[in-house]
Amino acid sequence: MTKRDYYEILEISRDASDVEIKKAYRKMALKHHPDKNPDDAKAEEKFKEAAEAYEVLRDPNKKARYDRYGHDGLRGAGGFGGGGMSMDDIFSQFGDIFGEAFGGFGFGGGGPRSRSRRRVNRGSNIRVKVKLRLDEIANGVEKKIKVNKYIQCNACDGSGAKNGSSFSACSTCNGSGQVTQVTNTFLGQMQTTSTCPYCGGEGQVITDKCNECAGNGIVKGEDIISINIPAGVAEGMQLSVSGKGNAGARGGIPGDLLVLIEEIPHKELQRDGGNLIYHKYLSFPEAALGTSIEVPTINGKAKVKIEPGTQAGKILRLKEKGLPGINSYGRGDLMVNINVWTPKDMSNEEKELMEQLMESENFQPKPTQKDKSFFDRMKEYFTS
Ligand SMILES: [Zn+2]
Ligand SMILES: [Zn+2]
Repeated sequence: MTKRDYYEILEISRDASDVEIKKAYRKMALKHHPDKNPDDAKAEEKFKEAAEAYEVLRDPNKKARYDRYGHDGLRGAGGFGGGGMSMDDIFSQFGDIFGEAFGGFGFGGGGPRSRSRRRVNRGSNIRVKVKLRLDEIANGVEKKIKVNKYIQCNACDGSGAKNGSSFSACSTCNGSGQVTQVTNTFLGQMQTTSTCPYCGGEGQVITDKCNECAGNGIVKGEDIISINIPAGVAEGMQLSVSGKGNAGARGGIPGDLLVLIEEIPHKELQRDGGNLIYHKYLSFPEAALGTSIEVPTINGKAKVKIEPGTQAGKILRLKEKGLPGINSYGRGDLMVNINVWTPKDMSNEEKELMEQLMESENFQPKPTQKDKSFFDRMKEYFTS
């Protein structure tokens, strides 16, 4: 594999100054930063490539050897010049740069060494609700939703500057993004440091603002976002889609899209974790003589045989007809809770028939085991 020219990677000329090299690297690192390009192998590649280029060009010795002999000049030079860097290397080596560039986001160096913590704008998160049917939850689903949000301004490519390059260091904070104030109190002089009010902590100001976005780099717009919802989600869960929230002002990092799951109740099936419960009433003759019933499931109906002499309270289990777990391979069951319907209004004829039956020995209750509560039966079900 032939390596690309380091100057080309950072998009700078061969006579770029140290400051320009650093600035160019910062720009590239921001552009290809993994937080900004989640799960993007190409961006990660470029992110690493830029770090490698910077690692060489910022070092006067390595730079001189590279300028003279190219990539060959760096063999055995130590460091990463020859070999490429891991993500950990990059963050530990160039922590300062990230501390500055991403100050306040809690990653990369920062710490006491980086005194100037310039801020990069992060777009805010957006919350949306997604209503799902049980069958969608059972199988997982891709939902496309339209979201009104801030998007990058096309006219200025999100920079906020009219010609894309009209920036100057903020004169209020001298580019540091922070201002220090000394106030006299009865305890003596107090020094407080705060975000520069003029540039909002960015350290630079736009000299000529883009008309479309008034210098913000973002405009109101909409986006159609497809969300892959995994099987087994439940009411109240929140999924986070990284980088799909509001765009960050002036080339910042976008926020996240937070998706709150809502369940549309099923007409007949009740959910209990991974299990589904269906309450079925049999008529008294059906329970006594046996029958075949249809049970609704997530994917169509299932036929279930009812044995003659089925008691109210029996739970029939349809294995793996429930919902999959979000973090497991297993699937819950569909439990059919059998009830027997006792008639309320009967004709005189029916009553007479009933009275005859009432005398019969076979109609006397003969529980084979002690009466059990529903919960005892549930326990039995789960331990069997
Ligand atoms: Zn603009
Ligand atoms: Zn400022």
